[in-house]
Amino acid sequence: MNYQKILEEIRQETEYLSKEGAQATYIPELGNVNPDKFGICLTTLKGKEYCLGDSDERFSIQSISKVLSLAMALGKIGKKVWERVGVEPSGNAFNSIFLLEMEKGRPRNPLINAGALVVSDIILSEFPNAEESYLSFVRELCGGAEVSYNEAIASSEQSTGYLNAAIANMLKYHGNINNKVEDVLHFYFRQCSLMMSCRELCGAFSHFANHAEPFDVGGIQLTTSQIKRMNAVMLTCGFYDEAGEFSYKVGLPGKSGVGGGIAAICPNQYSVAVWSPRLNPKGNSVVGMKALELLTDKTGVSIF
Ligand code: GLU
Repeated sequence: MNYQKILEEIRQETEYLSKEGAQATYIPELGNVNPDKFGICLTTLKGKEYCLGDSDERFSIQSISKVLSLAMALGKIGKKVWERVGVEPSGNAFNSIFLLEMEKGRPRNPLINAGALVVSDIILSEFPNAEESYLSFVRELCGGAEVSYNEAIASSEQSTGYLNAAIANMLKYHGNINNKVEDVLHFYFRQCSLMMSCRELCGAFSHFANHAEPFDVGGIQLTTSQIKRMNAVMLTCGFYDEAGEFSYKVGLPGKSGVGGGIAAICPNQYSVAVWSPRLNPKGNSVVGMKALELLTDKTGVSIF
């Protein structure tokens, strides 16, 4: 498969969308990113990398971090995670509080904010130096020793994160947060602020694409069965209220973030990451969605 040629075609064929949508500004610091950035990288499980555009520039991965946090929590406490958070798509916005009230503090899944706050609480309880342990886990996962939190983005979100604070308080009220609400929020915002490039995201997600070997990274171990389940959650819950659309058009498990990134995997074949900051009204990168749709159309390979 000539992936480099396919990426070049994708670049040209998404050009017409390059001014569509708008970058996220509800986290003020994200509004300072150049919205015209575009990067894409595809890494095969044989270790070949195909990259284009701004694929080595780090950006704020935002909710893509929820997958990495889930892996860490699952590796530590296994299926006990599912006693506190479900695996059903929410059919609501990522930051919705409405279902959480109806369902008495048990988030629908770990890839919406409510679920990720519970996962953050688990990591805080299980790791004495959670922020450092999380960072070293992610560095090891992606092979990028310089990956780090972006303090300006984290504090920008902290200063406007009223809805996440409300969600965390609702979880605490229902007994689904054990640590202090402010500590959970602080850790959550830092995870979201992680700066990674498309190439580094591919490195991290290649571990989820590889079903042949159990996952063993930085002291975190996951069985192939756990990885299978994580991929199922990505497919059904990874794209806000557009998981059905992504599944229909692209057909790969993945996760998007409001920084404009999307990381996805084709099981046993490759991981892919794309970055373009302009978002559609549901919060997914306009060009990113189209790029991945073209990728699976052109290669003729998806999970379906
Ligand atoms: N930090 C963001 C928030 O909680 C993450 C949103 C996202 O990327 O989905 O609003």
